[in-house]
Amino acid sequence: MSARDDDAIWPAAVATLKSLVLLAARRLLQGRPAMMTDNIFKKIIDGQLPARILHEDELCLAFHDLHPQAPVHVLIIPRQVIRTHADIQPEHQALLGHLHLVAARLAQQLGLSAGYRLVLNCREQAGQTVPHLHLHLLGGRAMGWPPG
Ligand code: AMP
Repeated sequence: MSARDDDAIWPAAVATLKSLVLLAARRLLQGRPAMMTDNIFKKIIDGQLPARILHEDELCLAFHDLHPQAPVHVLIIPRQVIRTHADIQPEHQALLGHLHLVAARLAQQLGLSAGYRLVLNCREQAGQTVPHLHLHLLGGRAMGWPPG
């Protein structure tokens, strides 16, 4: 191999390394979807987007998830915009308790007497995609542990 060929290897090696880094970054991002800038749940609350609503009261809304991960997959959201669980304040205490009471009542109504799982994803590393605090009520199948 001539000195000239040797020189030519480096740009190609750097280019290959760059594409590998980009691929790894894309894989990581696919595993951890970014948080939407748009609050689609606020649009559901305001009646600008349709949803299969199961429960509505002065504090919260519950509706079927658009991409269910279990036979029962319901989202319970406060009407008040709280971006993430990390943003909760002492004044939200009663509201958060209310979300849990609604979840337990819905679980009973939806026949989840064998058990159910409540999930709350907080921020991007946990997989939160919608910037509006919400509880996932999942049931109707056996659940694995640890969660992914
Ligand atoms: P998270 O990833 O914890 O923020 O959960 C957001 C959930 O909202 C996901 O399970 C989505 O499938 C669900 N979702 C997104 N858009 C809608 C929509 N328009 N109606 C109902 N569920 C939705």
